[in-house]
Formats: sequence, structure tokens, C-alpha cells
Amino acid sequence: MSTTATDVTTSHADSGGTDWDPIFDEVGLPKDVNNIYTQTVASMLNAAEIVNLRHRVRIILAQPKNEIMVHFPVRMDDGHHKLFKGYRVQHNNAVGPYKGGLRFHEHVHLDDVKSLAFLMTMKCALVRVPFGGGKGGVKCNPRELSPGELERVTRRFTAAIANDIGPDYDIPAPDVGTNSQVMAWIADTYAAMAGRSSTNPFAVVTGKPISIGGSLGREKATGQGVVDVLLEMLPDLNIPIEDMRVSIQGFGNVGSWAGKILADLGANITAVQDHTGCVRNPEGLDVHALSEHVAQTGGVKGFENKANTGGSSRHSGKGCEVISVDEFWETPVDVFIPAALEGMLNEQRAHQLRARVVAEAANAPTTPEADAVLASRGIEVIPDMLCNAGGVTVSYFEWVQNRSNVIWDVEQVDRELNRIMCAATRRVIMAKQKYSTTLRTAAYISVLEHIGDIYNHRGIWP
Ligand code: NAD
Repeated sequence: MSTTATDVTTSHADSGGTDWDPIFDEVGLPKDVNNIYTQTVASMLNAAEIVNLRHRVRIILAQPKNEIMVHFPVRMDDGHHKLFKGYRVQHNNAVGPYKGGLRFHEHVHLDDVKSLAFLMTMKCALVRVPFGGGKGGVKCNPRELSPGELERVTRRFTAAIANDIGPDYDIPAPDVGTNSQVMAWIADTYAAMAGRSSTNPFAVVTGKPISIGGSLGREKATGQGVVDVLLEMLPDLNIPIEDMRVSIQGFGNVGSWAGKILADLGANITAVQDHTGCVRNPEGLDVHALSEHVAQTGGVKGFENKANTGGSSRHSGKGCEVISVDEFWETPVDVFIPAALEGMLNEQRAHQLRARVVAEAANAPTTPEADAVLASRGIEVIPDMLCNAGGVTVSYFEWVQNRSNVIWDVEQVDRELNRIMCAATRRVIMAKQKYSTTLRTAAYISVLEHIGDIYNHRGIWP
């Protein structure tokens, strides 16, 4: 990458906040170590320093291009109207259209959405799919909404941001609290509003039901990608997959698929935690039965009644014990997979964790303080932007299929996903070796070299 002396910033920020990069002042970012967006940008700037990224690219990446905030009224079942707040942050589209999930959660906040949009720019660039980064959300608790209310929230939010999304411009997808049905309502609302002006309006979202253009293999894609990365990485870490002990935090879409695929390959999923409780079996839980239980009841709580009495339709004779949250973190495993929400692996948990590897299936699960503790304890962290990129990769396949009117079989999806995930993993390992750094910084380095090269070719106009 070409740089000039004046393009390069000489000091660096660290996530501990003691040595702030001047770019924080320049672009007006708060120097707050507890702010999740600040933490993310600090990590990127640290890697930018290593690769001498041009100053102009650093400031572009330090802030999103667009931050859209909307308020919209929705009629509730009892007849009254409630005002909801929604966000869509479009971080960067130098590589291609903005791409990223929509989260429905009561704690959705602009800084979280900005961080997740930023991470999408990094993730798409790392796996080299031609998308930029975006993210959105609605502040609501979907568990407290009736199906009708959820549909009306989704359609009103879509109408509010309809001019800001599109198959060539910004393509949302599912995230925490949203699913393929929500994507179907968005696609239908957008298609009705776009009319004849859009030739393929359903390509406005990915993660759709198969019957309206979703891709085979998309539902399991993020979990499958986690496994693809682990399988590529494990030989270097000297951990065989057979009887590998794994604990998983979060047993929703990503956690349950990663667990089921790993168990089918011979690993023992020894402990699982979600928002309802924790269960453990040192010999390995029956994660297929656990997944059925979670689908029926909404959480792992109560699984012991089925697992220990044969009450599960797939009862395997494998029982389980209910454990405390502290016992969950202290369960000895080879690999810990955080697959819940941001910031859940904090400093205290990093001290408690008894694992050799952390595979970040969730977005931003590890706080900077925890990252430092894990590094000091020699625990390898496979960063989110690599580990969970399988979801956006198969979303890209869905978009390609929609736009070219073809349907891939699941073998083709899995094969292409594996090819992309393995190539990205090798890229990160090579950068780690070249720069003697962590996997996280190596992933940023690989991304920044790619995006820096794109800006070098495109220039900045006008
Ligand atoms: P999900 O809603 O299906 O599952 C979330 C899980 O987190 C649930 O099991 C829930 O019980 C658990 N959880 C919530 N609060 C918790 C708490 N306080 N303690 C323990 N567990 C808790 O969501 P998902 O789609 O599986 O996403 C999980 C993570 O993966 C998120 O960080 C998301 O951004 C990320 N991710 C998802 C995808 C995707 O394709 N779904 C892609 C990339 C990244």
C-alpha cells in the first residue's frame, strides 16, 4: 500500500484510553473507554498504525457515512398507538452496497448500532464479499409483542426507511430478535412501495424464507462458518475435533447451529448458557434435543426434566445438571463460544474462563479489558469479524441468486462458504505471523490493506 509521510499519524490509541489517537478529536469521537463505538474504532486505529494506512482512510472509517434515526407510531392490539424508535446506520460503501442485520431489542442504542455497522464493513472486507457495512434496529422487546404487533412494527419501520434501503444500496438481514418472517414482511412492504421502479425488490433483504427467494443453508450459515473457521484453525492450535470440549453462551440461531454441527463432528458440548439458565454434562449434552427444547420453550431452562427422564423426543440417555452462572464460566473446556450479545465476556469472566480458545460467534462479545486478560493468560481469541462472517457470506450468495434468478443447492452453498471462510482464515493467520500480533489485529490488518487499496484506486471525489 502506498503512503506518504504526511498521510501517516504518528501516535496511536489504545483501548485502555491512556494514549488517544488525535483522530478522536479530529472526527469528534468521545474519549470514553466504556463506549463500545470508541473501543471498536481504537482497535481499528491500532491496526491502521501498523499498516501505515492513509490518514484520509482512517478518518473516513472512524465515523459512519450516515446515521438514520426514525420515530414511527404503531397501532397496538388494544387500539392505542405507541411510538417506536428505529435506527439504520450506514457505515461505509466503498466496497459495495451497505449490508447488515436488523436487531429488535429493548436495549438497542445508537452506539451499539454504529459499532455493529462498523464491524460489518470490516467483516465483508475480510471475507472479500463486495458489500460495505450497515446495521439497524428497533428499540422494542419482540417477546412482548403479539404476532400482529410485530408485523405492524416491522412494516412501519420499513416504510420509514424505505428511501434509504434497496437491492443496490442497502440490504438488511436478520439479527438478534428478527428472523426470516420479519425479512418477508420487509421484502413485501418494500416491494409494494417500490412498485415498478425496482426490477427485483425482494433482493432488498437476505435471510428470507426459501419460498420467497431465501438461500438454502442461510439459517445455519453463521454457525457453519464458525465451525469452518475452527476446523481450519484447530490443527495450528493442536486441538483435535474428536472429544474437543466446548461451552456455548447463547443458544439461539448461531449458538445452537454451531453446537449441533460440532457435536455431529464428534465434539462434546459440555455446557450451555442462555438468558434463562445454564446446563452442563461433562460427557457432552444432547444438543439436538436441547435445540428442540429451546425452540418449544424459548430457553434452556427446564431441559433437565427432559434430559434426565427421557421426556425428549430424541432422548439419547445423556442427562444434564443445572449449574450456576459462575460454574458455567469455570467449566474446563478447549473452546468457549460466546454466541449471545456484546460485552458479555468482561474482565471478571475472562479471569474465570477455563478455555484454551475463544471463538467469537457473537458480535463484539469481548470487552477490551477482557481481551487483555485473555492475552496475558495465553488464551487465543478468534475475532468476531472472522468467526461469524459465515452469515453475511451466505447472505451474499442469496443476493447473487436473487439477482441472477438461479437457485443453488445446499452442497454448493456449503462448498462456497467453506472456500471463503478457509481463505479468510488463512489470510488472518498469515497476517498474524507476518506482524507477530493477535488474531484480532491481524484481521484488522487484512481488512485495512484491502480497503486502503480500494480507496487508492477509487480516490476521493469530488
Ligand atoms: P438469537 O436471538 O437467535 O440468540 C441470542 C441468544 O443469546 C439466545 O439464546 C439468548 O437466550 C441469549 N442471551 C441473551 N441474553 C443473554 C444473557 N444475558 N446471558 C446469556 N445468554 C443470553 O440471536 P443470534 O442470531 O443467534 O445472534 C447471536 C449473536 O451472533 C449476536 O451477537 C449477533 O449479532 C451475532 N451474529 C448473528 C448472525 C446471524 O446470522 N444470526 C450473524 C453474525 C453475527
